[in-house]
Amino acid sequence: MTNILDGKALAETIKKEIAEEVKKIKAAGGKTPHLAAVLIGDDAASASYVRNKVRSCEQCGFHSTLIKREADISEVDLLNIIKGLNENPDIDGFIVQLPLPNHIDEEKVTLAIAPEKDVDGFHPINFGRMAQGMPAYLPATPYGIVQMLDRYGIETSGKHCVVIGRSNIVGTPMSILLSRKAKVGNCTVTLTHSRTKDLPAETRRADIIIAAIGRAYFLTADMVKEGAVVVDVGINRVDDASRKRGYRLVGDVDFEHVAPKSSYITPVPGGVGPMTVTSLLMNTLKASRKEIYS
Ligand code: NAD
Repeated sequence: MTNILDGKALAETIKKEIAEEVKKIKAAGGKTPHLAAVLIGDDAASASYVRNKVRSCEQCGFHSTLIKREADISEVDLLNIIKGLNENPDIDGFIVQLPLPNHIDEEKVTLAIAPEKDVDGFHPINFGRMAQGMPAYLPATPYGIVQMLDRYGIETSGKHCVVIGRSNIVGTPMSILLSRKAKVGNCTVTLTHSRTKDLPAETRRADIIIAAIGRAYFLTADMVKEGAVVVDVGINRVDDASRKRGYRLVGDVDFEHVAPKSSYITPVPGGVGPMTVTSLLMNTLKASRKEIYS
């Protein structure tokens, strides 16, 4: 039987739990968690992601600050904004929404964020701490997937997991988290990518597949073994004249044909996406309590 991993519903549950925590913190006279988000330019998808993050902060009783600048902002000006946020004691954590305009060096920006405020978990210090199993802000999307597997009680220990895609924000950290010695972990992981020779042969051996490629309907039913757990990270636009906006969002998985073969599967939308936002809130709560860096 196929079970849907309902990220939307789970994220709502976790947000309610966070809101309860925040109420207790406030009642005890503690500091209200405060997340800032920096949005550069007018990319519609980025704006909608940031809107979602800010709305979720409000739902949980956090303070939130949105800093919006035009796409032609200079790199120096952006780095100065980051410096200000690093030094502002009221801001517990902040994110700079990616992608950035071409004239801005994303690596420089990531490195400029103070690791103790890097609630996206993108800074190499947090990445390195994660890789060594030390307390760290875990990158939001892989952390959300770990939470989801945990809450749905999906056994990972001893399982063979195939991750498709090796980006620094999804595929690579996902492979590290699933292979480490932890409750959700202890998998034997194969990290695959564009140079993998026979990808279908790899995915057909997998008990758990994490698809993070960025290509609509990439993972087809013939690539999946019966009973596999399938997590779809992809967010892709496909033309759809029946929709007012002219497109709809689909994942990297051919959901219609893969779902009947899988034991658990995430939908798109409503799967991994909402869990990513929840992770960000959890990291910010940890930041405000100084749980990772004291
Ligand atoms: P990316 O473009 O940085 O990486 C894509 C990866 O896919 C690369 O490592 C590449 O080697 C691999 N790849 C490309 N073609 C391949 C092929 N033919 N066979 C095997 N591997 C191939 O992308 P990303 O930032 O990791 O994002 C991946 C997708 O996930 C995108 O659709 C993105 O929008 C989505 N995403 C969703 C969330 C969320 O919250 N749901 C968060 C981050 C990214």
